[in-house]
Amino acid sequence: MNSDDIVSKSYSEVINLTKQLIPSHPMYANHGQFEGQKILQDYLNSKGWTTYLDEYGFEDLKKNEIMKKPWEYDDYYKGYEKIKKYNLYGILDSGIPGKTLILNGHIDVDIIDKDNPLENCEPYLSSDRLWGRGSTDMLSGLCSLATIKNYLDNISWSGKVIYTAVVDEEIGGNGSIRACQWMREKGFLESEYPIECIISEPSDCNICYETLGFLPFIISCKSQIKHMNGEGNKMNFFKLTNIFNELAKLQISDDELNVNVGYIHGGNDASLPMEDLLLKGVIATTAEHNNDYVEKVLSDCGADIFIPGISINAVKSSNNIFGKSLYKGDLFKSSCDASVFYNHNIPVCVFGPGSLEQAHTRKEYILLSEIERYLTQFYKCVREYFD
Ligand SMILES: [Zn+2]
Repeated sequence: MNSDDIVSKSYSEVINLTKQLIPSHPMYANHGQFEGQKILQDYLNSKGWTTYLDEYGFEDLKKNEIMKKPWEYDDYYKGYEKIKKYNLYGILDSGIPGKTLILNGHIDVDIIDKDNPLENCEPYLSSDRLWGRGSTDMLSGLCSLATIKNYLDNISWSGKVIYTAVVDEEIGGNGSIRACQWMREKGFLESEYPIECIISEPSDCNICYETLGFLPFIISCKSQIKHMNGEGNKMNFFKLTNIFNELAKLQISDDELNVNVGYIHGGNDASLPMEDLLLKGVIATTAEHNNDYVEKVLSDCGADIFIPGISINAVKSSNNIFGKSLYKGDLFKSSCDASVFYNHNIPVCVFGPGSLEQAHTRKEYILLSEIERYLTQFYKCVREYFD
């Protein structure tokens, strides 16, 4: 089979699989995550992969000191410890020692409207796009990775491919943390040959060796109201000024860093000082101004700061082989599970079809041309990697 024929065969399979996954509603706490993983598992099995459906829970994650705590970020995730989780792993072993390529993606689809989580969950194919929640972030990318065997069957290669479809990426990354734990226990992360990871998040088919971080924060300052012109009641006003000054300096110092303060609460009466000042925000940090740095800036403002346990470090990966000679490398302007793999000293890149602008939108879709373009580029990089 020539490359074009392989791409068109895989393209049909990706559309078909993505169309099956969208209505399984693989959202947090939904049984659809299990059903979605079964659909992917059936597909991989039919292609001759060795697969493992990993059912795990809070007790298994607790063993891992870097476990994320989404309930500290949003009350919606209270009860997290009771929810069963499902990861899917697939192994392709060429039988000849060589490099390992880890293919990672998340099956969970972000919930935009908690009162109406299943909106746009029926797939609809129009002439140039596939509509449905998760089509861009990142079911079509996840399915694209699963077609790698179509390509490998047509070339000679050595080494291993490990496919990891995980949950909980949208709420911190426990799925990939678990996947790395599993791979380490099975001995897959020890090799004298290079091991690399590809995450097919929507990157407009660009190869990104850098990603942003995610640093949520809650700042609270309490003060006592005396009288509108009383002493000591300007404390929170100055603290707030100070915090915003520091945040503005941060924003100005780094073009890629983004400060988001989505919630401010002060007091109840315009003529009185703010009694309980509460600020909630998220800073998209960079490798240059990382989480530790920004956390220090915030705590130096003299306010009480709490960092909910789902912060994610920015990544600037080095020593990558995958895609290196074909693409210059970009910045992925969001955070994802890249840091989980990078913490295991695995060079990582984000490389997937579709654009971040489409991710997390009500009317989410993926352009069909993106999938075709992605498969073509992906296979080229795979060939180069295993050469
Ligand atoms: Zn995503």
